[in-house]
Amino acid sequence: MPNARDLLAPQPHCPDCEVAIGQPHVEGCDVARCLRTGLQRLSCERKHNCGNDTWSGRWPGEADCERLGWMIGPGLPDLNRLLTEATWNPATRQWDARA
Ligand SMILES: [Zn+2]
Ligand SMILES: [Zn+2]
Repeated sequence: MPNARDLLAPQPHCPDCEVAIGQPHVEGCDVARCLRTGLQRLSCERKHNCGNDTWSGRWPGEADCERLGWMIGPGLPDLNRLLTEATWNPATRQWDARA
């Protein structure tokens, strides 16, 4: 089992499509987010351009949970809470807490 510190350390490559940090995910990568909705690009069914999400070195939403203080425990971001209590801001590409 990796410890919490390891889980939060940036990963140099996307765990799915293996692109480097700052590079756009390849088509069909299940880590890539739709930049319009903040949700998984692979399962986005909207007829729009989902944009070219890049690998940040972190799992999508981790940094948002940290910023919002939504952690289940050390190294454990509450990613589900983003879906229920936050709104995706396509301009900043961040999740914002709902007012
Ligand atoms: Zn990827
Ligand atoms: Zn989309």
